[in-house]
Amino acid sequence: MLTIKSANKLILFIFFTFASCWAEVTIDELKKLPDFPTEFYEADHSGRLDWLKQQLKSADSEVKLYQIERAITAVYYAQRDTQNLQQICKKFIPLQPDFTMRRICARAIYDDYDEYISTLYELYKDAEKADDMNRVAITLGEMAWRQSQEGHIAEAFENYQMALDKGKGIDQDTLIGIMFNTATSYIVNGDEEYIKKGVKILHEIIERNNEIIATEEKKNLVKNYSLDLAKTRNVQAWFNIGIANMLHLYDNEKALEYFDKISFTDTALGKDSLSFSALAAAELGQFDRAQKYLEQLGDHKRSSEVLESYLQCYRDLAQYRWNDKHSVRSCLNMHPSTTTEVTYDVYNRLSDLEDESIELAGLRKLRELVVNKLVPELKNHGSKAASAAELNRLQRESEMKTQLLDKERQLKASETARHETEKKYFVALFFLFVFFTALVISQLQQKKRLANQFEKMSTQDPLTGLGNRRYLLQQIEREIAFIERSHQTEKPNALGIFIFDIDLFKQVNDTHGHHIGDEVLVELSKRVKETIRDTDLLVRWGGEEFVLTTRLENNQQVSMIANRIKKAVSAKPFVLPSNLTLNISCTIGAVKYPFVIEEEVTSIWSKLISLADTALYYGKQHHRDSWVVINNEDIHDAEQLNQLLKQPIEKSIEMKLITVDTSFENIDRI
Ligand code: GH3
Ligand code: MG
Ligand code: MG
Repeated sequence: MLTIKSANKLILFIFFTFASCWAEVTIDELKKLPDFPTEFYEADHSGRLDWLKQQLKSADSEVKLYQIERAITAVYYAQRDTQNLQQICKKFIPLQPDFTMRRICARAIYDDYDEYISTLYELYKDAEKADDMNRVAITLGEMAWRQSQEGHIAEAFENYQMALDKGKGIDQDTLIGIMFNTATSYIVNGDEEYIKKGVKILHEIIERNNEIIATEEKKNLVKNYSLDLAKTRNVQAWFNIGIANMLHLYDNEKALEYFDKISFTDTALGKDSLSFSALAAAELGQFDRAQKYLEQLGDHKRSSEVLESYLQCYRDLAQYRWNDKHSVRSCLNMHPSTTTEVTYDVYNRLSDLEDESIELAGLRKLRELVVNKLVPELKNHGSKAASAAELNRLQRESEMKTQLLDKERQLKASETARHETEKKYFVALFFLFVFFTALVISQLQQKKRLANQFEKMSTQDPLTGLGNRRYLLQQIEREIAFIERSHQTEKPNALGIFIFDIDLFKQVNDTHGHHIGDEVLVELSKRVKETIRDTDLLVRWGGEEFVLTTRLENNQQVSMIANRIKKAVSAKPFVLPSNLTLNISCTIGAVKYPFVIEEEVTSIWSKLISLADTALYYGKQHHRDSWVVINNEDIHDAEQLNQLLKQPIEKSIEMKLITVDTSFENIDRI
């Protein structure tokens, strides 16, 4: 409130100016002056100004001058020509009892809050002294409005209360005007208690209006200004009750009840209410009803950009209720001059939507609003929180802030949680990936290990069912041990080692396919197997090569066995399971193991196989479908064996290290 000291200063200042400007003029003199001619009142604003400026030249008294300047000021005010109003009000200082002009000139300094309020305060005091209760109430109401605009809610509420208390002394229209402003201020700025007070005042307005309507209707006038005004005021009151319920008390049903009273066809407010009604109905889940409101509105647009921008938002919010694909972008792009009341409401609604990005945008806007507008106001007026109402207001703001902070916290928490979850998810995914990779790798390794182990352990050739190379190596020690034992007896035994290879086997594969080749391998194994004894070892040495070891009772037996193998293979054509008949032959190389060695068995053994292989090679070179037996009885140790392996077989024959028997050269010996 204005301090006594500053108020006194103002009075002195006003007095001084009056004294200098209008020393001779009194309000009574002014009242005595004849009124302007009717042509003045019939003219428009600029016509009036022209006429008044003409009159200035011929003004012959100070009071006349005052009357003209006063009228010019009034025209500027009516024109809302603030600039000229400010100019003229600097020179034209209204008489102290000229309350109307003092109020008009006060409007010129509306933006300067402190000066405006001081000026109105003086006006209020003077009006009170003059017992002009209408003026007192109007002035208090105007001060309160400006105070509430500035955020001085407690002071505003006090002044509204004082204005209303003057109720009995003021005329109906003035009172209703003040009641409207009071109600609006209570609803927009108050806590729930004040909002309800505001709604109650609106109901009182409706009651008064209804009385006026009842009286005026009886008059049956063609044109009844009072009746029209009362009806218009009712529409405004219904609308405001609707808004109070919807935006402040969150009672959509009540809001609709009042919006529905408004005829939307003939008033702009009625059309505005349709946008609100649509949202209220949609919020209640009454989508058909909501759609009907939108249909009734059609393409109607408000001329005010500010209004249209937020009404569009309310309509979009309504449609979003039944179609979450509907864009609510309009709500984020509202006109900057949109009132805090609506802005707060809209952002609050956005922040409650399920769509996370909209929710976030709403919260951001809400935060902006609180941080940029409400918090500075709170700080600004915090020190002036003298009254209970202001405390309430502060509390409400602080609750709002707390709510917002809570929401922000919630959001942050949910964002953090989301990030955490995402992080956890990725970490989990990563570990899962690593785990699975490790698992797969270890399984593969395990498999490989097992396969290796299995392969190492396995001694059987899966295709032919014969033993494999590993089997022979395992068994050979037993055979050698047998030979060694036999050497200690009177009938020493030797071991025949045969290696044989299918002739031109590549051609079989190339001509008939690999599977036919396989069938040949199987058939050949079967045939050779049938020719051998139980103690003989027949293995698939690799590919289409086979090795046979057989215990020999005499040296001739080697050629015989070789010949037996040869015949078993090539004497009769192979009739394969695929019904293909093929002539197959093989070439056989053979050596003997007639001696007891001191060396490591495996090494001598592989050398003997290699020697047999040279015999096989010799056979392949000279005559396929044959056998070649190396007579190596005179070879007794590994060194001699090494020498044989180093040179072609022909050379060893030439050096008489060995002799060979073959099926093609010594055929007669068989
Ligand atoms: P050669 O008379 O000189 O022995 O002539 P070849 O065509 O038999 O020549 P070589 O011994 O070099 O060819 C061996 C062929 O045996 C090559 C390979 O395709 C085939 N082979 C090796 N193992 C298998 C097997 O398990 N199944 C089949 N179908 N073919 C095999
Ligand atoms: Mg081969
Ligand atoms: Mg071959």
